[in-house]
Amino acid sequence: MCTRNPVIVVHGGCGIYKEDFKEVCLLIVKEAALQAYRRVQQGGSALDMVEEASIILENDPHFNAGCGAVLNECGEVELDAMIMDGKSLDTGAVAAVRNIANPTKLARLILEQTNHVMLSDRGASRFAKSVGLPEIPMEFLITERSRERWRTKLSGASTPVDSQIDHGTIGAVALDTDGNVACATSTGGLNNTLVGRIGDTPCIGSGGYADNLSGAVSTTGKGEAIMKITLARLITFYMEQGMSPAEAADTGLQRLLARLQSRAGVIVVNNAGDWTAKFTTENMPWAAVAGDKLYYGIALGEIRNSAIEDTSFQHGARSDI
Ligand code: ASP
Repeated sequence: MCTRNPVIVVHGGCGIYKEDFKEVCLLIVKEAALQAYRRVQQGGSALDMVEEASIILENDPHFNAGCGAVLNECGEVELDAMIMDGKSLDTGAVAAVRNIANPTKLARLILEQTNHVMLSDRGASRFAKSVGLPEIPMEFLITERSRERWRTKLSGASTPVDSQIDHGTIGAVALDTDGNVACATSTGGLNNTLVGRIGDTPCIGSGGYADNLSGAVSTTGKGEAIMKITLARLITFYMEQGMSPAEAADTGLQRLLARLQSRAGVIVVNNAGDWTAKFTTENMPWAAVAGDKLYYGIALGEIRNSAIEDTSFQHGARSDI
């Protein structure tokens, strides 16, 4: 039986973050990584770690996932999420679900309790009901900020960096003490899309991929581009060919940029515990815990670190934006 040093890496979506959002988003991704790491210290698996981190980020209104998700053209929330177990390749995913607080939790129930990989919209709600996962009013997921973004876009106003500002998906990758890897990714999609639009996030190989033979990846960026090159699977393929997580991430992101002129972000861990957080946008809040140290950053090239014990949190309540 192998005992590995566990690793967790989380992201809060690539894009351009306004100054007043940077510190708070960083604080929350750090908290998510630390809480997930505590799970493995209590005997949790890689799947438990990525689920834990995702739920913390889905519950926080600063991110485009769960509460705080962006709205479709009709002003509604439609959520996509996936979770994947690198040991068995078992995957659970949901697409365009509406009244669920934590789509990652629902995705995990699909992984564990059905023979399917993905359920959408009505079918996902039906399944949620059958396993006792409560539905919540959509209003609970909508913040003043997401309504404002929706209104602005409806009015036709845009900024030169609009496509980068729209991002905000969350994700996590982990390696546990048994050497198993897992990934999870969750999103509200992109602002003001057509009703029923499904992005890369719930699709195996696009929004995430996990295989113990190589490692795990979670992606963020424009789903329509990421899907065309199956970015997460591409990066694990590069690792299978011998690249490190950092080389594989850079090569995948550069291919997306060269082939489709699309910027994105990824977090990666391999089965030896090497990890990376890379992006070609201006920002991506990320945090990692490895070897009892916390690493984090939000700007290109930024890597800060601190000892785990030095970190305490009291971030704001969900009603603050
Ligand atoms: N990938 C997500 C989507 O297209 C958006 C994002 O990562 O910000 O749905």
